[in-house]
Amino acid sequence: MQLARTDRLLIVADFDGTLAGIVPDPSKVPVNLAACEVLDRLAQLPDTTVAVLSGRGLEDLKSVCPLRAPVTLAGSHGAEGEHGVELTGDMRARLDLVGARLGALGIEGAYVEEKPFQRVFHVAPLADADPAAAEAALAAARAVDPAGTTVAGGKNIVEFSAARVTKGDWIAAKRAQVGATATVFIGDDVTDENGFAALGPGDLGVKVGPGETLATRRVEFGAGVTDFLQELFTARAAR
Ligand SMILES: [Mg+2]
Repeated sequence: MQLARTDRLLIVADFDGTLAGIVPDPSKVPVNLAACEVLDRLAQLPDTTVAVLSGRGLEDLKSVCPLRAPVTLAGSHGAEGEHGVELTGDMRARLDLVGARLGALGIEGAYVEEKPFQRVFHVAPLADADPAAAEAALAAARAVDPAGTTVAGGKNIVEFSAARVTKGDWIAAKRAQVGATATVFIGDDVTDENGFAALGPGDLGVKVGPGETLATRRVEFGAGVTDFLQELFTARAAR
């Protein structure tokens, strides 16, 4: 792997759907511990920086992700943690307003998650039992007046964000901070496309699972992710 021989390597991984499975209860996700262990070993190598960049709130991410320093953890798509932004009163008011509007939809089997910078409308509990009802619920959420927040879709969710920070912004900031000469970003979901879009010709985007993507390499969830990271580790360690 040519990229593994670069001077300063930055490796950024999404969490849910990439390093952990997706289940109805987000507090009980099955974590790919083998993949996390390889990331931890990558982070011990010289001139190599590893980060987990999640849409979860930072505290929530810490409660489910076993990785710690020297691995960097960033939450809320990069709004929380290093390179984060401040939550203003205006942002909070917008979130409260859109949260109330989502709650007023009163859809059974759906719920609204409160994150520091986002309100997230979830239909995962509904999706298995009644996919059509789940789709209708997502459409109803997308039709809600967003009160000045930014609306993004994802797997079984619609997310309303008061922060303008995207995963692409965060990756650009981190790359500048560490002076990375090549960056690897691995992710599975729609918001990860912002991250892939921020990559340059010498970088590598890795898409986990199916779906349209800007990434140039694709791996399967689980063993596919672990094998890719192990391949990267072996090449980097041999540099
Ligand atoms: Mg994900």
